[in-house]
Amino acid sequence: MGELVGNKHVEYVLSVERRKDDFHSVLMEHLRVNGAYWGLGTLDLLGKLDTVDTEDVVSWIMKCQHKSGGFGGNIGHDPHLLYTLSAVQVLALFDMLDVLDIDKVTSYVTSLQKEDGSFSGDIWGEVDSRFSYIAICCLSILRRLDSMDVEKAVKYVVSCKTMDGGFGCTPGGESHASQIFCCVGALAITGSLHHIDKDILGWWLCERQVKSGGLNGRPEKLPDVCYSWWVLSSLVMIDRVHWIDKEKLIKYILDCQDTEKGGISDRPDDAVDVYHTYFGVAGLSLLEYPGVKAIDPAYALPVNVVNRIFFGRCST
Ligand SMILES: [Zn+2]
Repeated sequence: MGELVGNKHVEYVLSVERRKDDFHSVLMEHLRVNGAYWGLGTLDLLGKLDTVDTEDVVSWIMKCQHKSGGFGGNIGHDPHLLYTLSAVQVLALFDMLDVLDIDKVTSYVTSLQKEDGSFSGDIWGEVDSRFSYIAICCLSILRRLDSMDVEKAVKYVVSCKTMDGGFGCTPGGESHASQIFCCVGALAITGSLHHIDKDILGWWLCERQVKSGGLNGRPEKLPDVCYSWWVLSSLVMIDRVHWIDKEKLIKYILDCQDTEKGGISDRPDDAVDVYHTYFGVAGLSLLEYPGVKAIDPAYALPVNVVNRIFFGRCST
């Protein structure tokens, strides 16, 4: 089996992040606040977050904030819950949550909660259980979960449960691994995992592992490195991770590395990107691969960052 080429991945992420300075580059439009989270998250898991300038990142992130309190994908873009969570996660990585006007961010997030407890992603109103996770995760990191109607939020997530034990994007929707991560994560953060039938869901999730060792997101689909995160984190949260073949999954993720230029792709020999690099490394973290920091399966942040948020800065 190959090895994790961590230093190459660091080089790859730094080469992508550096181009972020060029805000006018249409080519780099895709690298928004969530791209920064994936890249910087990779660096942190590999113990190399100190290779980037904190002030540069924080000042750019804060320029992406809209007057409503929400964050856009880049400077001048419309705010959306997705980017708001990524911005909060990036600030958490750098222990810079203090720069936020927490009341403002909180009021943006809570303004998107509907009467039935669900959340829309932005003012245009598309409702999706993913946004419930994002709102819950975001306010939990800001320690303002009590500002939303948690009971109703949980009730809505539970209403998205499917016959196979999974979760869909709205009530009556079809199970999908990334949606399951969001719903299980939302229930984990709110202490509501008792709503899940862990054996039924665990079975559906472990059936996502295909012959090559990789995981797919739904039955009959091709494996993809990012599901190493969505499926595995869910299995960890419901305590069923021992139901998959860990060694085979490690091999699959390592086979998706570009061992020359760094970065990880969705499938072996495809083009690499920051998203799959982050979730590949995050998957290896859940598989306790040596040299990768431990990641929290619900918050998708390194465990030491989550501990710092909830238990304060440690002095060592
Ligand atoms: Zn993918």
